[in-house]
Amino acid sequence: MEPKYKRVLLKISGEALAGNKKTGLDDEMLISVAKEVKGLLEIGVQVAVVVGGGNFWRGRTSKSMDRATADYMGMLATVINSLALQDAFEAQGIPTRVQTAIEMREIAEPYIRRRAMSHLAKNIVVIFAAGTGNPFFSTDTTAALRAAEIEADIILLAKKVDAVYDCDPETNSNAKRFDTLTHKDLLDKGLGVMDSTAASLCMDNHIPIHVFGLSEKNNVIKAVYGEKIGTIIK
Ligand code: UDP
Repeated sequence: MEPKYKRVLLKISGEALAGNKKTGLDDEMLISVAKEVKGLLEIGVQVAVVVGGGNFWRGRTSKSMDRATADYMGMLATVINSLALQDAFEAQGIPTRVQTAIEMREIAEPYIRRRAMSHLAKNIVVIFAAGTGNPFFSTDTTAALRAAEIEADIILLAKKVDAVYDCDPETNSNAKRFDTLTHKDLLDKGLGVMDSTAASLCMDNHIPIHVFGLSEKNNVIKAVYGEKIGTIIK
């Protein structure tokens, strides 16, 4: 069986990387993500990654701080996660480059679209760190933007929850689970799976999104074979 996609953008929320701890990094989770990414490369899929920072810091959660400053702190949190992922990937023998939207040349390449495309074509994994480089945006928007820029076939949205629901399934046992949705549904129903900026960008650029839980093994591979896990938005 052939994978459905040639080039994917894997978006991993920061929280998913914390495993059961909710904050910080879980070594087993890092190793498990690395193994799944290795599996993708082995079947010929090119992989770009955007990682969130919510396991360390989210700009919008600060009540007292200047929002732009708090957001820059959030972007730095994504760099910590990106370096942790690069380390885990390289331990599995996966060639990996981190590119940051805020320059920090001592630890990573700056984001250069054409260079990222060239890495991907050589089956090198590229991790896009520091979000879009702008406050007031999210890493979901980063995923939508970078997916459009690198012409990814789909965004694989790996989360702590296993699908899109109409409300939080952790606090509401009657939460309704969706198998498929349109981008417009996300906006009209105000579903919290991604913010409206990210959803609009995906809708306008016809980028499908597959939402699934990261904690179940092989979900990333299942998603590229088009298996019916989680929720598909197209
Ligand atoms: N962030 C930002 N601009 C961006 C991307 C991220 O300001 O382009 C900041 C923002 O404060 C955000 C934090 O980085 O809360 C971490 O990203 P996000 O909340 O998307 O992480 P996730 O929820 O996916 O872990």
